[in-house]
Amino acid sequence: MAVYNSTSRKAEEFINDEKIRETLAFAEAHKDDLEMMEQILEKGRQYQGLSYKEAATLLECEDPEIIQKIFDLGKEIKEHFYGNRIVMFAPLYLSNYCVNGCTYCPYHMKNKHIPRKKLSQDEIRREVIALQDMGHKRLAIEAGEHPTENPIEYILESIKTIYSIRHKNGAIRRVNVNIAATTVENYRKLKEAGIGTYILFQETYNKKAYEELHPSGPKSDYAYHTEAMDRAMEAGIDDVGCGVLYGLNNYKYDFVGMLMHAHHLEKTFGCGPHTISVPRVRPADDIDPDEFDNGVPDDVFKRIVAVLRIAVPYTGMIMSTRESEKTRRECLEIGITQISGGSRTSVGGYVEEERPEDTTQFDVEDRRTLAEVVDWLIDLGYVPSFCTACYREGRTGDRFMSLLKAGQIANICQPNAMMTLKEFLIDYASEETKAKGDALIRERLPLIPNEKVREICAHHLDEIEAGNRDFRF
Ligand code: SF4
Ligand code: SF4
Repeated sequence: MAVYNSTSRKAEEFINDEKIRETLAFAEAHKDDLEMMEQILEKGRQYQGLSYKEAATLLECEDPEIIQKIFDLGKEIKEHFYGNRIVMFAPLYLSNYCVNGCTYCPYHMKNKHIPRKKLSQDEIRREVIALQDMGHKRLAIEAGEHPTENPIEYILESIKTIYSIRHKNGAIRRVNVNIAATTVENYRKLKEAGIGTYILFQETYNKKAYEELHPSGPKSDYAYHTEAMDRAMEAGIDDVGCGVLYGLNNYKYDFVGMLMHAHHLEKTFGCGPHTISVPRVRPADDIDPDEFDNGVPDDVFKRIVAVLRIAVPYTGMIMSTRESEKTRRECLEIGITQISGGSRTSVGGYVEEERPEDTTQFDVEDRRTLAEVVDWLIDLGYVPSFCTACYREGRTGDRFMSLLKAGQIANICQPNAMMTLKEFLIDYASEETKAKGDALIRERLPLIPNEKVREICAHHLDEIEAGNRDFRF
C-alpha cells in the first residue's frame, strides 16, 4: 500500500487514499468541536492558510454561527489580498475531437451523434475577433485530446494565431491553456509559446472513481494525469491551475485531495497552484447529471468556496458561467476572484449564434453578455479587470506569490484593473455603463495606497482617454 509523502513524485504517494480517509474520519469525529473550529478560524485569520486537515474539519462543521464566521473570514481574506477587482476571461473551444471516454463529457469518443469540429486558423481568427469585439483580453483555450486532430503543433499554431490578431483596439494579451496531460517536452513548447496558466482539472482524486469515470483513452491513466502538474512545473510552467469537477465523486474526498495536491506542489516546487477552479457537473448532450449522484447543494458549494479561500489565500479562484448569476454573486463575495463572461462552450460558438444542434461541452447557466456582466459587477461595487500584467512582467510562480504575500498586489492589481476597465469602457461599453464605470474609477483611484503609483495611474487613465492603450504596472 502506498504511504503518504507530500514531496514524492508518485501520484498515489502525494495524493494518498489512506491519508485522505484518515483526514475525513478526523473531520467527521470533530465536527461538533466548536472550540477546535474557533482555533482553526483563528489560524485562518493569520492569512497564512490552513492545512488540508484543518480545512476538511472546518468544512464538516454544521454550526450556523461557525458557518457565518467562515463566510466572513473568506470575505475578509479576499478583500485583503485581492481588493474589489474581478478578473474577466472567456473560454475558446478549438476542437471537440477527443479519444477519451470521460463518462460526464459529451465530447467522449463513443458519442457518435454530435458533429465533430475543429477550428481552422482562419476560423480561430474570426472567433478571436468576435471575442476582441466583446472586450476580452484573456482567453482560456480548450481542446479535446486527439493525437492526429489536435496534436501539440496545432495547439501551438493556434496560440500564435491568437496572439497575432489585432482588430481595432482589441488584443488577446494572455492565453491560458486547458489541454490534456502531456509530456515535459510538450509543456516546454507551451512555455515557449508564452502561455499564461496551464489548466488541468483532476475531475476526481479518488483513483477508483477516476478509473470508472475514465474507462478508455490516455486519460484513463490516473497516475499520468495526476502527475501532469509536476511535469508542467518541471518544464518551467510555474503558473498551473487545478480543479475538481464537483458532483462526480464525494466532494469531501475531492476537496481534501485538491488541497493535498496544492500542498504537494508548494512543497516540491516552492509554489502552489496559481488558480483553483470550482466547476460543478451540468447537463449536456448524452449526459444526465442525475447519473452522478454526488451533487453538491448550493449551501455546501458556498462553504467549499469560502473554506478554500481561507485555506489557500494566495491562489486565485475561478468560477465559470456554469453557475447562475445568484451563485456567482454570492461566491464573489466570499472567495471567487476571476469569472468568465459571455461564454460559449461549443466549437465556433462566438461567430455563429449557438443553435440547439451545436454541441456545447456543458450547459451555460449565466447567459448574459460580457457587457451585461461588466455592468452588473460595477453595480455590485467591483472593478471588472481585464488585466494580464503579471505574466507579461515576469511575475509568475513564486515571484507572484511573494508579491501577493507581501500584500503588494493592492498596489498593482487595483491600478491595472482601473486602467483595463477604462479601456473597456471607452472601446466596448454603453454610455450608461461608461458613466457608472468612470464614477467607480474616480471613487477608487484615491484608494491606491502608494502615492507614486496613484499618480502614474491617473496619468495613464488620461492617456487611455486620449486613445493610447495597454499600460500596466
Ligand atoms: Fe475529452 Fe476532455 Fe471531454 Fe474527457 S473531458 S471527453 S478529455 S474533451
Ligand atoms: Fe492578475 Fe497580476 Fe493583473 Fe493582479 S496585476 S489582476 S494578479 S495579472
